[in-house]
Amino acid sequence: MKIAVLTSGGDAPGMNAAIRAVVRNAIYNDIEVYAVFEGYRGLVENLIMPVDRTFVSEVINRGGTILRTARLVEFKEKSVRKVAIDNLHRLGINHLVVIGGDGSYVGALRLSEEGLNVICIPGTIDNDIALTDFTIGFDTALQTIVDAVDKLRDTSSSHHRCSLIEVMGRYCGDLALYAGTASGAELIITGERGFDKQKMLEDLKRNRLEGKRHALVIISERIIDIKELSKEVEEYTGFETRPTVLGYVQRGGRPTAFDRVLASKMGAYAVDLLIEGVSGECVGIVGNTLVHDKIEKVLVTPRFVNLKLYHDSEKLR
Ligand code: ATP
Repeated sequence: MKIAVLTSGGDAPGMNAAIRAVVRNAIYNDIEVYAVFEGYRGLVENLIMPVDRTFVSEVINRGGTILRTARLVEFKEKSVRKVAIDNLHRLGINHLVVIGGDGSYVGALRLSEEGLNVICIPGTIDNDIALTDFTIGFDTALQTIVDAVDKLRDTSSSHHRCSLIEVMGRYCGDLALYAGTASGAELIITGERGFDKQKMLEDLKRNRLEGKRHALVIISERIIDIKELSKEVEEYTGFETRPTVLGYVQRGGRPTAFDRVLASKMGAYAVDLLIEGVSGECVGIVGNTLVHDKIEKVLVTPRFVNLKLYHDSEKLR
């Protein structure tokens, strides 16, 4: 057996720890392992090379991905995927581990339907993958956001200000929900929870009249232009208001211990599953136990929305 590993889609802190675990567990089991650079594009362009255990030395603590990542729209075409599969077969490789988000999962599903043995690992800061409590990178991005919000809180309360802070997550509100809870935000606005602008303005106005020195509002990306919203908040509530879009800083940085452990467990498990003959599946963690499910099931299952945590954080603000 020969196993190849790649990272695809957006990078996420902890991907290196997952690559390391795949490489080291394969070698532990006397399996030849290959690194694919730049995701699916690397499969198509033959950026594939055998690696030994030193290839992943001193990477467990590094953010980003040493394999680099890419987006290749053409991978939706069967003829392009055939080039990728032929490149792997020429090297005698029939097993692949894909570390990425849901788009990468679709590519992996197609490869598995076309004969490759594929296991996916959830690597994205967004935590937007079903049937896993956490994705690799989520915890690190969350910590980055909370550090930034703590700093904004200092200046916000010194100046008697309202801070609107936009965080990533694509269509998943988990980064906003967990960051808002961890930083004691007055309001958490996400797609899942819905956005009632008038109610938000009234809540913030009441906060101000009740004498709050600051207000922190955490809002998911892709909901509203927070610069425009900031002007409206200032006009309606009288609160001096500042918008902050945290942006790509959320994707970088050294992975937290939690992400490194999660990635190590998932990477090792992916190789164990391939050895057992499992294919077309992805790994997850549910209630601190590693699980695996069919890729197509994960892609059609709605993500769990933690309504209890929304409710709790509203009670505590
Ligand atoms: P993130 O959640 O961080 O954005 P992602 O894996 O969802 O990561 P995408 O850009 O959606 O990122 O997908 C990564 C790659 O997966 C694409 O560039 C493409 O090569 C492949 N891919 C996506 N959708 C398909 C599809 N329908 N068929 C085949 N391949 C696909």
